[in-house]
Amino acid sequence: MNLILMGLPGAGKGTQAKEINKKYNIPHISTGDMFRLAIKEGTELGNKAKAYMDEGNLVPDEVTIGIVRERLSKDDCSNGFLLDGFPRTIAQAEALQELLADMNESIDYVIHVDVPEEKLVERLTGRRICPTCGATYHVKYNPPKIEGKCDNDGSELIQRDDDKPETVKNRLAVNIEQTKPLLNFYEDKGYLVSVNGDQDINQVFEDIRTKIEK
Ligand SMILES: [Zn+2]
Repeated sequence: MNLILMGLPGAGKGTQAKEINKKYNIPHISTGDMFRLAIKEGTELGNKAKAYMDEGNLVPDEVTIGIVRERLSKDDCSNGFLLDGFPRTIAQAEALQELLADMNESIDYVIHVDVPEEKLVERLTGRRICPTCGATYHVKYNPPKIEGKCDNDGSELIQRDDDKPETVKNRLAVNIEQTKPLLNFYEDKGYLVSVNGDQDINQVFEDIRTKIEK
């Protein structure tokens, strides 16, 4: 099964990716992991990507696409794959279509884990971390035993700058802007399945399963 996973930050993509990986025995391929692997293996494209990254530049699409091709050609993709974080643009989505057609493959489903923006703001801004041991909490969904204090060591919990409301809202706005055209692209092609991500994580996975096993 060839899948793409989409969803905004805080939508719970990581959790669903793990479940999908276990259930269907297909590798979870995130963009970051894919680059790290190519760089570690020292492939020609990996080296090229590294040179761009070392200079603080964006890796051009043709290099990225090449790395995707290398990754999807590996043995562990014989049952399919779950792409996460790629494609990011319409140009990349089109290149992926061509690449898969070349490999006599195609996408089966693009799974969109859909969570209302207000809920994402709540999820993301409620995070607290312990500066001493790194434990993470959520004021509503995973609160410490004593408000504002770490269960492990009693340290005062802090909110990372990234989790402050203004930053979170900006990050979401940028992501929404980026994903909208992609969701439309895949909807037009008939690949898109949306699941309600604002429910129990087991139920989210059940909904995904029901939709992709149809
Ligand atoms: Zn702690």
